[in-house]
Amino acid sequence: MQRTILLYLLCLLAHHTYPSSAASARDTSTSGNYIINNCQHVNHTTDLHHLLHRFRHAFHYILADLDKGTSSPHGFRAFFKSNTNLRLAKQVFQAIARGQNLTAGAITKPPVLECASPAFRTGVYQEVYRMVCTPAGRKPSHAASLPLEGTVIICPEFWKEERDFPGEEDCPVVEGRRKNRKFMDSGWGLRDTKFAMLVHELVHLYNPLDAAAKTAEKYRAQDCVDLGVQESVGNAENWALYAASAAARCTKFPISPAPDELRI
Ligand SMILES: [Zn+2]
Repeated sequence: MQRTILLYLLCLLAHHTYPSSAASARDTSTSGNYIINNCQHVNHTTDLHHLLHRFRHAFHYILADLDKGTSSPHGFRAFFKSNTNLRLAKQVFQAIARGQNLTAGAITKPPVLECASPAFRTGVYQEVYRMVCTPAGRKPSHAASLPLEGTVIICPEFWKEERDFPGEEDCPVVEGRRKNRKFMDSGWGLRDTKFAMLVHELVHLYNPLDAAAKTAEKYRAQDCVDLGVQESVGNAENWALYAASAAARCTKFPISPAPDELRI
């Protein structure tokens, strides 16, 4: 989700307190440490359980790939540039894989995935539904994160995306030689999957450097590759594209594991 909207919503959260138990107490279940809220009445609790099951499986592979750092064949060097933030990347991806408890202020609690619907509960949640999930005159978002609430809001648009996980056919095409090597497509094939969208929003919750990022979020694959080391680690889509590239077993990137883009 765009950071400007996120900041607006954070301001709302900072200035209002809302009862967090307005949703039906029975419309809650758990998957590992993740809490799934308010999804049964839109018939998506089972879908989220299945998604999180495969999600954990994918992270098993991604975490093993991360051990290779910039030698990863799946784009760590392209999306993170160097091993400077490797330890942080491991911590964040491990936390996401486990659904580690989040701390906001004095409260520590499990992460929540919450389905938004027209019957959404009050306060900031309703604002998210109105402004992010179904904004007038703008493209609806698939999901949004509320870091202070430790919550990812799943919008109805999320369920319109039919693809759960990216495959090899989604790997962006790389063309050009030496320092002119570029992704020739946007990488939407990788990102327009429930997996990549969920990773993106969870990075907003778990990455301590996310809020420090000062520039507008970048989404296109080549724009993410073009970011510097610190900009990369602050841009949620860089994390999502690396995770999606590893999940899809992509092996061609503008910046390769070994610096052979300088030679070929
Ligand atoms: Zn975002």
